[in-house]
Amino acid sequence: MKAIVVRPPNVGAEVKDVDLHEPVLPGRVRIRTLYTGICGTDRGIVGGKITFARPPDNSGELILGHEGLGVVEEVGEGVTHLKKGDLVVPVVRRGCGVCLNCRIGRQDFCETGNFVEAGIRGLNGFMREEFVDSASYLVKVPRAIADIAVLTEPLSNVVKAVGQVIHIQKRMLWTCGDSSYECRNAFVVGTGPIGTFFSLMFATYGFNVYMLNRRDPSPAESVIAETIDATFYNTSKGYAELPKADVVVDTSGYPSAFIPLLGKMNKNSILVLFGTSSNDSAKVDAELVTSIVENNIAVVGSVNASKEDFAEAVNYLTMWKERYGGLLNKMITSVISPEQATEALMKKPSGEIKTVIKWS
Ligand SMILES: [Zn+2]
Repeated sequence: MKAIVVRPPNVGAEVKDVDLHEPVLPGRVRIRTLYTGICGTDRGIVGGKITFARPPDNSGELILGHEGLGVVEEVGEGVTHLKKGDLVVPVVRRGCGVCLNCRIGRQDFCETGNFVEAGIRGLNGFMREEFVDSASYLVKVPRAIADIAVLTEPLSNVVKAVGQVIHIQKRMLWTCGDSSYECRNAFVVGTGPIGTFFSLMFATYGFNVYMLNRRDPSPAESVIAETIDATFYNTSKGYAELPKADVVVDTSGYPSAFIPLLGKMNKNSILVLFGTSSNDSAKVDAELVTSIVENNIAVVGSVNASKEDFAEAVNYLTMWKERYGGLLNKMITSVISPEQATEALMKKPSGEIKTVIKWS
């Protein structure tokens, strides 16, 4: 079968024929891949910049891809909640089997670090025509969202992070006088797919959402901001016109993009760090530390997602499709073949929100 393979830390990706001889053992499922999404992590691996990327043990190459959507072709003995023809999205991280969090399905909070991640570290990914996976790592998707369900994985990470915000902010009374979040402002730094999902989530919770970037919005970004009643704010004109924030989410990974916003944070607010980067030297100084302390500001990093977060992401996609019509389809800015993917993996196409590869 056709697959997109990489040899980390070498630069580049290749479309080639691979034969993995994967039998459908008890508890496992054969899936025909429909779509896989391309994200910054994939480009980081192909560009040789993700130091933790590694092939499965005893293999020199890794099949790329962690944002997948497929259709069940065959189920192994003992699989009861899936049948041939069902649409499924696979979970990315697989637990260490040792720590308590992994043993209760919360491998996103693995304590040992000995987990594997499909298409990233130690486990082949989904950029191939078919794969066999454990039923316990597959999330069923309704037909009604077949056209956008490839977005489930990136959204699952946002579902987790926003859940963390709501959970942590229970440290006090944080809702408004009418029990809503309508008096709260959420700043989202970055307007890629992850930033867009954070904006959608906070808008759904009832926050006043500010989508921040260092430039004016693209036509697609304007439509998204308008549809969800968010304000798109160009930070290149300074921060003076922004109100105070109750939540700041950074999806850019650049400290220089979110540190100037810390002076805009309300008392008891929360900063969520989601993005990562490798070349920014902005520093946190003593004055900033004092401000974080004196204002009870919480700082949380968030990565990955549990199977529950994937299922919740499927629910949000279903609800948003009903509420916003074709808005989510506008996030999929191009659909390409596996052969075209090697170039798209090296260089982000201009105007991209999400590029997806069509497999069948
Ligand atoms: Zn673990």
